Amino acid sequence: MIVTIDGPAGAGKSTVARLVAEQLGYMFLDTGAMYRCVALLANENEIAWENEDVIGELGRTLEYSSNQDKVFISGEDVTQAIRSPEVTAAVHRAADNVQVREALVKLQRQLASDNNVVTEGRDQGTLAFPDAQCKIYLSASPTERAQRRVDQLNANGGSVTLAEILEQQTVRDEQDEARELGGLHAAADALFVITDGMNIIEVVEHIERLVRIREND
Ligand code: C5P
Repeated sequence: MIVTIDGPAGAGKSTVARLVAEQLGYMFLDTGAMYRCVALLANENEIAWENEDVIGELGRTLEYSSNQDKVFISGEDVTQAIRSPEVTAAVHRAADNVQVREALVKLQRQLASDNNVVTEGRDQGTLAFPDAQCKIYLSASPTERAQRRVDQLNANGGSVTLAEILEQQTVRDEQDEARELGGLHAAADALFVITDGMNIIEVVEHIERLVRIREND
């Protein structure tokens, strides 16, 4: 069975999807990490984003693997590197490249084939797995998403304001929604889970219940 979890930045998709996968004993796919890997490689090799074919080739030749909570490119641990501010700022360019998206969607389908999977991203229920049995669209109000991010960053020694984070988040949401192929929008048959006022455990339990209902359909 394939469970897709799509939604905007800061909705808590990664944490929730990882825990749901763990609870169900399903494989977990973090597709944002794949786009981040391509952005990291482009940055490291100083490839201009306009060079679409070369960037596309980075997607086609990406040797991606992951275990539990680590991400590897050709066996090298890039878990920290793909979360750097430089990669976060550049990743939308990798996601805009149609060749990269085609290559990564293919990779996602290969990894999911014959497996029970919880996969999270922006286009999992719409483009990558249109026939998935259980599609979730996970979101929360912009202020709630931004406030969670502020709390997370400041707990790790940062000093960011809500206004700053809200501004960055709005830009990211617009970039993700505007994308022609693989843009962020809910699949027609997605179940909406709006998490304002809910804690992680409540969200995970709620999604698990939705999946169990679909499992028994
Ligand atoms: O989820 P995460 O923030 O790691 O994703 C990084 C970026 O990758 C997103 O902002 C989005 O632009 C892109 N992305 C995408 N399609 C996906 C997953 C991520 O376009 N399935």
